[in-house]
Amino acid sequence: MPNRRATGTMDKMANMDKTPQSVIRAEIQALSAYHVPDSRKLVKLDAMENPYLLPEDLRAQIGELTAAAALNRYPDPAAAPLKARLRQAMRVPDDMELLLGNGSDELIQILAQAVNRPGAALMSVEPSFVIFKMAATLTGMRYVGVPLTPAFGLDQGRMLSEIEAHQPALTFIAYPNNPTGNLFDAAAVHAVIEACSGLVVLDEAYHVFAQKSFLPELARYPNLLVMRTLSKLGLAGLRLGMLIGRAQWIAQLDKLRLPYNVNVLTQILAEHVLAREDVLQAQARAILDQRARLWNALSALPQVTAFPSEANFILFRVPHADAVFAGLKQRGVLIKNLHGSHPSLAGCLRVTAGTPEENAQFLDALQESLRQAA
Ligand code: PMP
Repeated sequence: MPNRRATGTMDKMANMDKTPQSVIRAEIQALSAYHVPDSRKLVKLDAMENPYLLPEDLRAQIGELTAAAALNRYPDPAAAPLKARLRQAMRVPDDMELLLGNGSDELIQILAQAVNRPGAALMSVEPSFVIFKMAATLTGMRYVGVPLTPAFGLDQGRMLSEIEAHQPALTFIAYPNNPTGNLFDAAAVHAVIEACSGLVVLDEAYHVFAQKSFLPELARYPNLLVMRTLSKLGLAGLRLGMLIGRAQWIAQLDKLRLPYNVNVLTQILAEHVLAREDVLQAQARAILDQRARLWNALSALPQVTAFPSEANFILFRVPHADAVFAGLKQRGVLIKNLHGSHPSLAGCLRVTAGTPEENAQFLDALQESLRQAA
């Protein structure tokens, strides 16, 4: 039997390589985790959520459905009733299929996992939704971020030459784009889809506000998928995203989906709430009114440059962005600070349209913070 001292040395040697530094992939160690700030006690205008709860009658029905749900069982892996309701609600063409995800975030990851052959490239534009780049990093894909024009438009010439050079296996275009809020020129998007030999995913997370869609184009392009989410529609807490496209793509991608990725409550409650299109549309209209009000108020401030938006948020530029952001937080309002995240977003902050009261509080706090920061 080895003596205690010798055992200690052996343990030390055996433990030498058992650290995250030696085991976890270097590119994961180099990442910082997706940061979600603590928003308790703050007016929350940072994450493009719908600020409204559902009406009381619908919430009472949700209570009953939840009480009756078979939480002892695994969810229905095919989610057939929910898919049927989504087809109706999203006007999905009859000959197209659906793949459901735990939010569209999960679908982005599934797509990258499906195409990451050695050396394969994932392309998007910059600035855009950061999860596209993150999916490339996590799956070990080459990431190609093509800069937008100074007005945040799609740079068609640059896009086409990068497609030619990198032959991306997967290209994401957010339509409208986050964090800039604009819809890209549709003709430029068509040119990109046509130039790509890989898959192109139109991420229509903000469709309910923009009402423009590439869904009808699925029949025309064999390499196109459209992605939607219920998150901006008022159901962010349920986590439900969907990919819409030809059966031959969906059948392949479905193999990467973990069987029970959409939980029992999400399936039951989303199906029920989506039947109330009147409620969801009324909330979206109220949010659009508030966006217009925010836009007018921001545009009237001489120190502020606001960028036109087709989504439920507005990007705007201010002097001393870090100080203005901190001033807003101090005054109880949380928005998103994009200053420092990308060169073309220097001085930029992003605010989500909230309720009339929340927006008024934001505008008051903004004016005070601008004065204080000057
Ligand atoms: N796509 C875009 C363009 C987004 O802005 C967001 C959310 N910020 C998502 C996808 C993620 O949506 P989900 O909540 O469905 O994961």
